[in-house]
Amino acid sequence: MTTTDTIKVSGNAKINLYLDVVGKRADGYHNIETIFHSVALNDELILAKRAKKGISVNCTHPDVPTDKQNLVYKAAQALYETVGGFGGIDIHINKRIPVAAGLAGGSTNAAATLIGVNELFDLGLPDKVLSQIGGQLGADIPFCLHGGAAFGTGIGDVLETLRPLQDISVILINSGIQIQTKSVFDKLHIPLTRNENKGIIVKSYFETGDITGIAENLFNLLEIPVFKKNTNLSKLKNEVSKQEGCLGVLMSGSGATLFALMENDSAAQQCMNYFKNRVSFCFNTQTSCIGVFIDD
Ligand code: ATP
Repeated sequence: MTTTDTIKVSGNAKINLYLDVVGKRADGYHNIETIFHSVALNDELILAKRAKKGISVNCTHPDVPTDKQNLVYKAAQALYETVGGFGGIDIHINKRIPVAAGLAGGSTNAAATLIGVNELFDLGLPDKVLSQIGGQLGADIPFCLHGGAAFGTGIGDVLETLRPLQDISVILINSGIQIQTKSVFDKLHIPLTRNENKGIIVKSYFETGDITGIAENLFNLLEIPVFKKNTNLSKLKNEVSKQEGCLGVLMSGSGATLFALMENDSAAQQCMNYFKNRVSFCFNTQTSCIGVFIDD
C-alpha cells in the first residue's frame, strides 16, 4: 500500500527493429508487424496527490501540450473514470525523449501514468486492465507498459514477448525533424507483395540472441515515405552505417530518429562523438528489458 503523496515513475523509450505494414483496416488504422525493444532513455514523471479534484499536467518541453490532448492527461482521466474517481493529481513530465520522433515518448508517458496512478492511489488494477485502458488510448502503450522486447501485430497492440537483447549498445540520432505518425501512414503505398517470412525470421534470431542476424535484417517500410520527403535523412543513415563498429542502422517507428546497433560501447562512444555536434539529439544508450519503473 502507498502511504506517500508523491511518486516518481519513469518510462523507457522504444525502438522498432522491424516494422512492416500488413494492410489498411476499415477504421483507417493499419495492421502492422513489428518488433519493439525498450532502450534506456526515459522521461521521468512526478505524480502528486492534491486536495483539489481534477488533473493538471505540465512538461519541461515547450512542444508538448499540457491540456486534455496530452496522453498523460488522457491516461489519468481514463483511470479516473474506470474506478469512479480518486481525488486530484498534479503530473509533471521531465521530458528527455525527443518529441514526435518515433520513440513513443507520449506513449511511454501514458504507460508511466497508468502504473504510477494505480500505485499512488492504491487502485489495485491488474496489468491486464491497465493494458486494455492503454490500448484504447494508443497502439504503442501496451508495449510501453510491458517493455523489454516483443513482436507486435494488430495495430501493434497484440504482443508476443521476446527474449530481450542484453545491454546492446545503441546510438539514437535525431536531426531535429518532428514527424506526425498519421502523415506518414497517409503517404504510404503498401506494396502489393510482401515477404511474409521476414518478420518471423527476425523474430527467430531473438531466441538465440543473434545480434548479427537481427542487425543484418533490420527493416522499416515507413522509411520509404519518410526518406522520400527528407532526403538528408537517408544520407545520414548511409553515413551512420559506415561508422566503425556499426552493426546496422534503421529509422525507428514513423521517424525521424535513427538508431544504430553498435558492436561495443567504445564504438558507440566514437560514433556519438562524430555526430553529436551535427544533429540536434545524439544519445549513447543500451537495450533495456524494462518499460516502466518506479523510482525510489
Ligand atoms: P507516435 O508514434 O505515437 O505518434 P512519437 O513517438 O513519434 O509518437 P511523441 O513524442 O509521442 O512521438 O509525440 C507525438 C505527438 O503527441 C506530439 O506531437 C505531441 O503533440 C503529442 N503528445 C501528447 N502527449 C504527449 C506527451 N506526453 N509527450 C510527448 N508528446 C505528446
